[in-house]
Amino acid sequence: MTEMPKENVDGNVLKELASIVGEKSATSAKHIRYAYSYDLSFVSRKNPDYVVMPESVEQVQAVMKFANQEKIPVVPYTAGTNIGGLCIPERGGILLDLKRMNKIIAIDAESHYAVIEPGVSHAQLATELYKHNLRWSWPVGPPSASVSSNAISHGIGGLSGRYGLNSEEITSMEVVLPTGELVRVGSCAIQENAWHSCLPLPRMDGLFTGWLGTSGVVTKIGVRVHPIPPVLKVFTVSADNIEDMSAYMFNLGNYEICDDLTGVSWWLAQVPIPYPYKPKPDDAPEWFSFGTTFSWTEKEKEAREEIWEMVVASEIEKGSSLKKTVYPEEALKARTELPSQIVGSTKNYTKQAGGGISWPGTFTPLKAWGPVYNDWKKILINHNLSPSVRVTNYRGVHYGMLRAMIPFNKKSPEETENARHAIVECLKVDLDHGGIPYKPPVDFAREINQRAHPGYLSLLKQVKKMLDPNDIMNPGKFGI
Ligand SMILES: Cc1cc2nc3c(=O)[nH]c(=O)nc-3n(C[C@H](O)[C@H](O)[C@H](O)COP(=O)(O)OP(=O)(O)OC[C@H]3O[C@@H](n4cnc5c(N)ncnc54)[C@H](O)[C@@H]3O)c2cc1C
Repeated sequence: MTEMPKENVDGNVLKELASIVGEKSATSAKHIRYAYSYDLSFVSRKNPDYVVMPESVEQVQAVMKFANQEKIPVVPYTAGTNIGGLCIPERGGILLDLKRMNKIIAIDAESHYAVIEPGVSHAQLATELYKHNLRWSWPVGPPSASVSSNAISHGIGGLSGRYGLNSEEITSMEVVLPTGELVRVGSCAIQENAWHSCLPLPRMDGLFTGWLGTSGVVTKIGVRVHPIPPVLKVFTVSADNIEDMSAYMFNLGNYEICDDLTGVSWWLAQVPIPYPYKPKPDDAPEWFSFGTTFSWTEKEKEAREEIWEMVVASEIEKGSSLKKTVYPEEALKARTELPSQIVGSTKNYTKQAGGGISWPGTFTPLKAWGPVYNDWKKILINHNLSPSVRVTNYRGVHYGMLRAMIPFNKKSPEETENARHAIVECLKVDLDHGGIPYKPPVDFAREINQRAHPGYLSLLKQVKKMLDPNDIMNPGKFGI
C-alpha cells in the first residue's frame, strides 16, 4: 500500500472557503475527498484537504486570493480524465472542481467561434454546435470531459490533421492568476466582447497552455469552431508493419487532404484492448489506418479520392504491404462523432483489465515512428502488455502523436507498478528519438527535465515564479 501524505484539514480554512462559495459547495468530508484522490492512471492516491466548487469568476478570484495568502495548494479540475495523474493533489490542499461553471456564453455561427466556461463538456458543446452545423475537434475521450481543459492541455481530436492541436484553436482567454488577479489574453483583452483571435497581440495564451494547471485558472475561453461539409469519405488501409504504415501516412500527409489521418496497431483496434498481452493472429495485418475527409461537393470528394488512389498505388509500387481495407461502420462513427458505443469509450478500453488505464503520450517526428514503435512493442510485450499504439499526423507530415493506451489491473499493486515501469521505459525511448512526452504522468517530469536545456528550465522557473510566487498551483507537476 502507498502511504498517504499527512492530512491537513483545518476547520477555519473550511469556514472561509464556505463563506466564499456557499456551505453546499465547500467540503472536507472524507468520502468526497476520497473521490478526488485517484484517477484511472497508476499515479498514487492522495487526498485533497478541501473540495471546492465555485460558480463564478469572482468566487474563483476570492478562493485564489485566500489560498495564496494562506499558501494552500490549489488543483484545478474539471472531469479528471487526463490519465496522467495531473489532478491528483500531490500536496493536498484545495481541489477546485470547476464543473459548475458550465455556461456556453456565445456561439458566433457567422464568425465561427464559441466562448465557453471551463466546465462545458464535449457532449454539451456538441449538442449546441450541431444546431448550427458546426463542429469542434472531438477527442476520442469521455464526452463528459471539459473542452477547455482539453484545449489548454494541447489535446487532439478529429480535426487535428487539418487544424493542428486543440490549443492552436484557442482565440482568447480569461484567467485568474494564482494571486487572484483577473487577466485576459487575446482579442478579449482589448475589447470586452471580442473573442475572435489571439493575434496580432503577443502570444500570452502560451502562459496558460501546456502548463498542466500550474499557472492559473482559466475561467473563459474562446475557441474556433468549423462548419461541417456534407460529404464524408474515410480512406482505410492496412499494412503488415509500422514502416509501411508510416511511409503511407508520410506520403498521404503531404497532400493535406485529411481532417484526421490516424494509424492504429492491431491491439488498439481490438475491443476491448487485450489485457494481458495476447499475440496477434499471424494472418492479421499489424496496422490499420483511417484518413477522414469531409468535402463540400461530390466532385471535391472525387478529387481527394484521386489523390488517395495515387498515394496507395505509389506505395504498392515501392513494394509496400499496404492494402485497401473495409473498416466497421461503428468504428467509422468514432472518427467523426463523440465516442460511440463500440469504440473509444473508457469502459471498452479498460474493461478486460480491471479499471486502470494510462499512457505514454508523445509528440514525435514522423520519421521516428518506426524505430520508437518497434522498441515500444518489445518493452510492452516484455511487460505482458499489449502494444496498443496510435499514430496521428498533425497538419501535414512534420510531426504527430505517437501514443499507447495501456490498460492494467488497478486492483493489483504489482500489475499497476508493472504498467508504470513499462510506460516510463517507453517514454525514455521516445525522448531518445527526439520526441516530447505530453501530459506526462507526474513522476516522469524529472526525466524530461534531465534532458532539458538549462536555459529552458531557468525560463520556466522564472515565469512560474512570476505567476505563482508562493508555488500553490497544482504543485509538483513539472518536477521543478
Ligand atoms: C479513453 C480515453 C481516451 C482519450 N482520448 C483522448 C484524445 O483522443 N485526445 C485528447 O486530447 N485527450 C484524450 N483523453 C484525455 C482526456 O479525456 C482529455 O484530454 C480531456 O479533454 C481532459 O478533460 P478533463 O475535463 O478530464 O480534464 P482534467 O483531467 O480535469 O484536467 C486536465 C488538466 O487541466 C488542468 N485544468 C483543468 N481545468 C483547468 C482550468 N480551468 N484552468 C487551468 N487548468 C485547468 C488540470 O489541473 C489538469 O492538469 C482520453 C482519455 C481517456 C480516458
